This record gives sequence, structure tokens and C-alpha cells, in this order.
Amino acid sequence: MSNMNRPKIVVLGAGYAGMMTAKRLTENLSPDEAEIVLVNKHNYHYQTTWLHEVAAGTINHNQARIMISDVINPNRVRLIYDTVVEVDTHDQRIVLEDSELSYDYVVVSLGFKTNTFGITGMEENAFFIQDIDSSRMIRDHMEYQFAKYNNEAKSVNDNLTIIVGGAGFTGIEFLGELVERIPKLCKKYDVDRSKIRIINVEAAPTIMPGFNEQLIQYGKQSLESRGVEFRLDSKITECKADRIVLNDGEEIVAETIVWTGGVTGNELLEKSGFELTKGKVSVANDLRMPDKENVFVLGDCSWVMNEATDRPYASTAQLAMQEADVAAYNLESLVKNQPLKNFVFDDKGTVASLGGKDAMGTVFNDNLIYGKTATFMKKMIDNRYLLLLGGPKLILKKGKLRPF
Ligand code: FAD
Ligand code: NAD
Repeated sequence: MSNMNRPKIVVLGAGYAGMMTAKRLTENLSPDEAEIVLVNKHNYHYQTTWLHEVAAGTINHNQARIMISDVINPNRVRLIYDTVVEVDTHDQRIVLEDSELSYDYVVVSLGFKTNTFGITGMEENAFFIQDIDSSRMIRDHMEYQFAKYNNEAKSVNDNLTIIVGGAGFTGIEFLGELVERIPKLCKKYDVDRSKIRIINVEAAPTIMPGFNEQLIQYGKQSLESRGVEFRLDSKITECKADRIVLNDGEEIVAETIVWTGGVTGNELLEKSGFELTKGKVSVANDLRMPDKENVFVLGDCSWVMNEATDRPYASTAQLAMQEADVAAYNLESLVKNQPLKNFVFDDKGTVASLGGKDAMGTVFNDNLIYGKTATFMKKMIDNRYLLLLGGPKLILKKGKLRPF
């Protein structure tokens, strides 16, 4: 154990899982009982669930970020702003870019990385909605394309085509923001709306594979009516600087290509030599890494099976936050020599936005909601998180207060 005989708990990553774990630990344990350290790449926490809005430019990136020290007391939690390079579970050591740390307990909650599945040229040529900076790049790139449109010789198609690769939740939510943002950019840069094509390419025969059929139809129709073209049953096999190639050989030229084709666990899991299931750590029922009694893995880094469906739970903020509660409880139990509890996911439903004025989802035992009700519910979910994290003050500062 570390100095003063109190255990040192190190939380890696200040996303949904890391922030809520750190917060709960400060509530569950006194300063005499444990030293708590939170390590994050930046001095801010961001709402990953709002990144599609930052990417489209429908909200400013500052609305989606929160200074960590505004919600986590730096006198209680040692905050380290640095990048984790390796987690060495053998020597109980964290290698950071600028220093090293030892731990008694570690919580690995470093989030996701976009998965390109090795598609040729995707990494080099497509944009990803991955963090604040990558999302700002998409917004700025689109703005630049519009700004130069009336000032340069025209491209092959004489249009400003935007391709979104993948129609999972991220792709669909991003399309919802795009159809609101594009008319504003057209007005700002004096570009005719007919010059812009927004094309979604999805490998499956439907958008949002596996989601409720009625909602799929609703969402598709809502987006189509606002100008999105869907290319379903079409797999992207290559991404070049100015076009994508489909499995039937067709090429689609575009000025902006955004890949939302899937996610996997942070690359650090592999670098650290962890045993992985599809890029994530398959955790035990109490959320610890198998055979490592002092290592918890949470959020998008964790692979948690849903025994009812025999499939893993989708990686969501909802799951990450619930895991954080159980991990904090179990860490308290370990420090106090008490029994641990198992994680049980309480699925409260799923709501997807289709821009700021439309949404759809399932809530409270699979009840379907659409339109204004769903939009209101989505904003309430966002505000609830802010309430849990920083109380009413944070909702007033960063919340979504206009209902529609
Ligand atoms: P994250 O929230 O991604 O946090 C990871 C943290 O680790 C970040 O602060 C990052 O900076 C930090 N980090 C990463 N690497 C390092 C490193 N090497 N060193 C130091 N720090 C590092 N889920 C829902 O439930 N509802 C939604 O509406 C929803 N909408 C979404 C919309 C979009 C556009 C996206 C992309 C995802 C959405 N999700 C949603 C999924 C949800 O955002 C994730 O499941 C959730 O963010 C996972 O939380 P996490 O704590 O594991 O990781
Ligand atoms: P995803 O894996 O859910 O969807 C990716 C989509 O891309 C799939 O439909 C897949 O068929 C398609 N695809 C894959 N390869 C392709 C190819 N070569 N060509 C064309 N299409 C291809 O990934 P996501 O949408 O980024 O979501 C990641 C996680 O975040 C999920 O767990 C999701 O539930 C969660 N999320 C939730 C919300 C919400 O609850 N509102 C919003 C966004 C994301």
C-alpha cells in the first residue's frame, strides 16, 4: 500500500465512467480512507453524447466541455492532466507521457476509439466523431468547403457532397444535425441548397440494424424528408481522398467523408497487453479484470454480456454511468474489507435525436416515443447527467434548457 497506509485508487479517463467513479468515491470514502487520483488527457471532461452536434456545428464545442476542477474537488482528488501510455498491471504502475504513477487499485475507463475495420484509406482520408478536437475538425472543414465554394473552380460534380459512412446511432444522430446545419451554411455562404448532397452509406439493408422496426421507419422518413439520401445494403470497401468505393465497385465523389461505422475499446488496452474480446476487456460480474483483483475496467473499454440475449450490452453512457456506481461501491468494499456486489444493468431505454427538433426512442419497458415527446426526453436525459455530475448549477451553465 502507498504512503500513510491508505490505499491509492487511480482512475484513468474522465469520461462518463471515470467522472462518476471519481465523484462516487469522494462520497463513499473519507480522505483518511483512500487517496484518489484522476488522470485525463485534458483538463476538461466532454459530453461524448453531444459530439455529433459539435461536429455538425449546431452547438459550440464549449457547451460540450466541462472543466474537471469545476465538478471534482481538486483538494479531495489529485487531478493529473496527462496522456496514459501504458497500464502495467504486473508492477501496478501507470506510464504517462510525462511521468509515472503507482496504484493499489486502478479503474481503466479510457473510452473508445473509432473502428475502421482495416478499410483501406479510411484512417487517412475520413473524419471521425471521436473527441472534441476531431469533431471540431469536421465542423471547420465543412465551413471551409462552403467558404471556398464561390471562390474557386468547381469540383467534378459541382456540388458539396457530404458522405456519412454507417447508419448506426452516431451516423443517424449526426445526419439529424447536418440537415439543420446545412441550410444555415447555405445562407451564410450564399450557396444554393440544391448543390449539397448528404448521402448515408450503410452496409446493412436497414438503418440502425437491430433497433425497433417502427422507429427505424420513422427515423429514415424524417431524415429523407429533409434531404438525406440513403444507400442501404452498400458496403464501403475503400476511402480515397475525394471519394469512397462501394462493394459493387461504384465510386461516390465527396468533399467531406465522415466515418461512423463503429467503435471499439481504447487502443491502450491492446498496447498494455490485456486479453481482449473484440477490442474490449471481458470483465467479471463485479467489473474487475479476470485474475486481477485490483483492476476495474468500465465504460467503452468493458465487454459486459447480456445473458438474456447472449450478446454484449451496447456501449453507452447509460451503461458506463451504472458501471461507475458499482465500481465505486466495490472499491469502497475492498478498502473496508466488505463483500463486493455484481453489476446488473438496468436498461432505461434508448432515445436517438434526429436534430434539435425531432427524436425517437424506447423508454420505460419498450414504450415508443417520437417527435416532441422524444426530443424533450432526450434533453431531460442530458440534463439528468449534468445534475448527477455537478448539481443544478451545472444544468444552468451547460444544460439544454430550451425544450424544443
Ligand atoms: P468517454 O466518455 O469516451 O471518456 C473517455 C475519457 O478518457 C475522455 O475524457 C478521454 O479524453 C480520456 N482518454 C482517452 N484516452 C486517454 C489517454 N490515453 N490518456 C488519458 N486520457 C484519455 N450513449 C448513450 O447512452 N446515449 C447517447 O445519447 C449517446 N450518444 C452518443 C453520441 C455520439 C456522437 C457518440 C460517439 C456516442 C454516444 N453514446 C451515447 C455512447 C457514449 O458516449 C459512450 O458509450 C460513453 O461516452 C462511454 O463512456 P466512457 O467513460 O467509457 O468513455
Ligand atoms: P455502430 O456499430 O452502432 O454502428 C455502425 C454502423 O456502421 C452499423 O450500422 C454498420 O452496419 C455500419 N457499417 C459498418 N461497416 C460498414 C461499411 N464498411 N460500410 C457501410 N456501413 C458500415 O456504431 P456507432 O453508431 O458509432 O455507435 C457506437 C456506440 O455508441 C453504440 O453502442 C451505440 O449504441 C452508442 N450510441 C448511442 C447513442 C444513443 O443512445 N442515442 C447515440 C450514438 C451512439
